[in-house]
Amino acid sequence: MDRFALERLFSLQDVDTKLHELRGKLGSLAETSGERAVAAEVRSLLQNQKVMNAKMDALVGRRDELEEHSRTLVAKVKNMRAKEMSGAISHRDFASTEAEISHLETQRAELDDAEFEVFSEIEFLQSQIQDVQQNLSQKNIKLSELKDMNAAIASGLNAEIVSLEEQRSELVGVIDANLEKIYEDIRARLGSMTVSRIENGNCQGCRLKLSSVEIEKVKRTLAGEFSHPPTCEQCGRILFI
Ligand SMILES: [Zn+2]
Repeated sequence: MDRFALERLFSLQDVDTKLHELRGKLGSLAETSGERAVAAEVRSLLQNQKVMNAKMDALVGRRDELEEHSRTLVAKVKNMRAKEMSGAISHRDFASTEAEISHLETQRAELDDAEFEVFSEIEFLQSQIQDVQQNLSQKNIKLSELKDMNAAIASGLNAEIVSLEEQRSELVGVIDANLEKIYEDIRARLGSMTVSRIENGNCQGCRLKLSSVEIEKVKRTLAGEFSHPPTCEQCGRILFI
């Protein structure tokens, strides 16, 4: 292998860096666009809605129960009054019937108070449910807009990724297999920068200052054929000058 092989490695490195960046963008799209946050809000609103609906069912049940009870009392009183009017009740029982009626009417007044409270709670809950529904429909619109937008962005990113992957396999096809193996090993260990230029006597990967003797050695190696590329003794990156 020779210095041209290392130049091709720079191209490979550029492609890999871009691929890494694009895959990162793709992977974090839901997060960075706010889609994930809106989806979480929608889930939380749906949960609230469920709790509120259950509470509403319970209140409506309670209201129906109170109304039913109240109707029964009204019917009872009506019945007793009718009996009084018809003369079916003896004079002796009249006072106790009146006392019973008065007792039932007190009960009914209490029921009315309880019903009023339940009605107020239902009204308050209804307005809360309405707020949640409104909020939910706004958030759902926002979520579907974000999803559409992200689908379009993702499709663009995927197209770029496919094209870069093609470029990558073409490059790998012309790179020495041993060199590619060295490149992949360093990449797996260090991430993005695998081939490091020596600039102002420093390894650009780790900033190690190389002596002039070491720099000369790298230059000499790169001037001819070599079986192993020069590497930085500190970070292990392939050196290029
Ligand atoms: Zn280094």
